[in-house]
Amino acid sequence: MSVDYEKVHELVIVGSGPAGYTAGVYAARAQLDPVLYEGSVTAGGALMNTTEVENFPGFKDGIMGPDLMDQMRKQASRFGAQLVTDDITEMKLDSDVKVLIDGSGNTIKARAVILAMGSAYKEIGLKNEKRLSGRGVSWCATCDGFFFKEQVIAVVGGGDSAMEEANFLTKFAKKVVLIHRRDQLRASKIMIERAKANPKIEFLLNTEVIDVLGEDKVTGLKLKNTVTGQESDGDFTGLFVAIGHLPRSELVVGQVKTNAEGYVLVESGSTKTNLSGVFASGDLVDFTYRQAITAAGSGCEAALDAERFLAGH
Ligand code: NAP
Repeated sequence: MSVDYEKVHELVIVGSGPAGYTAGVYAARAQLDPVLYEGSVTAGGALMNTTEVENFPGFKDGIMGPDLMDQMRKQASRFGAQLVTDDITEMKLDSDVKVLIDGSGNTIKARAVILAMGSAYKEIGLKNEKRLSGRGVSWCATCDGFFFKEQVIAVVGGGDSAMEEANFLTKFAKKVVLIHRRDQLRASKIMIERAKANPKIEFLLNTEVIDVLGEDKVTGLKLKNTVTGQESDGDFTGLFVAIGHLPRSELVVGQVKTNAEGYVLVESGSTKTNLSGVFASGDLVDFTYRQAITAAGSGCEAALDAERFLAGH
């Protein structure tokens, strides 16, 4: 069924992580006939790049990230959410009828919008990091780990993502060096213990990567000790950056209120933004918990808030 671009829809959901799909399930069951833009290449959100998710309730033996997202997608579709595999490229949200433009140039109108665009990988910000991206520098172990068989590679970061990536990469690599800028890791105890128990993982603490070396591909890293200031070169053929995420709010900054980092601000205890009929959920809003289950919960809240808003108008 193709999208009706003439009519004013009740609800458009932008984003397809746990927040977007859960909003889709709830809104579709409330018979709001939601149109859900999943993104052209990023459908499923950050969990598509994750391995096993062990802490999503209901899956006692864990579930692979992409499988979990596939289940959520099918559940939203089963109740009638109309899924569109395209990006939204522009949004005008400040009038009663919200106007959105998609990557194919179509204009879609709606009385309410749920923003669930999630977050994107953070970069260290080094010039050669960008230049050598796809040539040894990566942000996704599950996507690219296979290319690093029997190699010595570095993972930067001290959070759960870094531990998870490092563990996963030991399936392929000869050695994984986990580089973190402080002497304390931010990750949860269980993830740290698992990484420490892995004989292929070495920890290099109090260390920053200050340059990525190599012409056509990564051949090494320039490192700096954050305590002594001493610089050194290390031989690595891969660099995995796992230093967190930034909210993908660029399309709505200046329309909805955001904080200094770009996270969308919502009214306390709800998903309402400063604009009537515009709701926000998931990693776009949440800089504290950032879990699949909390994103799913806030997607549910956004759908309930949108349903109440539409019923009252
Ligand atoms: P995070 O918890 O924000 O950790 C980011 C890490 O990167 C921190 O250790 C930080 O250092 C470091 N960092 C940030 N900017 C840096 C820079 N410019 N240069 C060098 N290092 C930098 O992010 P995350 O690990 O992606 O996790 C995000 C959320 O997802 C967390 O709530 C986490 O629990 C969750 N998560 C859960 C699982 C799981 O349970 N299976 C897996 C992955 C993620 P500092 O510590 O010095 O700030």
